[in-house]
Amino acid sequence: MRRKIIAGNWKMNKTPSETVTLINELKPLVATEDADVVFCVPAISLTTAIEAAKGSNINIGAENMYFEENGAFTGEIAPNMLTDIGVKYVIIGHSERREYFAETDETVNKKVLKAFEHGITPIVCCGESLAQREQGVTIDFIRTQIKIAFVNVTAEQAKTAVIAYEPIWAIGTGKVATTEQAQEVCAAIRVCISEIYDEATAAAIRIQYGGSVSAASAAELFSQPDIDGGLVGGASLKPDFGKIVNYK
Ligand code: PEP
Repeated sequence: MRRKIIAGNWKMNKTPSETVTLINELKPLVATEDADVVFCVPAISLTTAIEAAKGSNINIGAENMYFEENGAFTGEIAPNMLTDIGVKYVIIGHSERREYFAETDETVNKKVLKAFEHGITPIVCCGESLAQREQGVTIDFIRTQIKIAFVNVTAEQAKTAVIAYEPIWAIGTGKVATTEQAQEVCAAIRVCISEIYDEATAAAIRIQYGGSVSAASAAELFSQPDIDGGLVGGASLKPDFGKIVNYK
């Protein structure tokens, strides 16, 4: 049985001091023994968030990371800067980073490899645009994203990875994918992982759904056989996130 993982993506929201307030507010609401809970927060708030989350079940993750060890990469965050302060997870290849910061399947792969090298669990994002869904190329497109993201990743590493299926048309739009659409793609991702590796790896890897998840939609989505939790944007900044985490 795979353990559920429910992660919040705060995006570019909340100052460090607001982070403390929000974590203190959400701490009792997201308490659960049934799932891993991750708050992915802006880089500047990571240390503060780790301090504020101490003694709770909240794990802190980053929203991005660079694929080099150190050097002349102004403005970037190195993997050992994250591990040094105790960051355990990092979102890689969110569609907003692909759209606004020119991330590609190849840079996603480099970052995934680097995260594993440093013992950070990557939450690897994939997802189609509305045009791709309407053209009927969703599964092919996502299979390509996954195959490139996992180049040179070992089966042992892949077993510990998290994949977030996030249809771009559902992110921040209030337009959640139907349960059938979400399950279909998450199942296809698992098949893709079994083809790259084997059944054991496919059975172990955790696949989240993301895209306008709310307290109302979480229970049905997270009960699907291939959906192991969610990556949640807007609703992760509100008390509703407690209801999403405790969706049962
Ligand atoms: C996201 O940013 O990963 C996301 C899923 O956002 P939202 O829940 O707001 O659609």
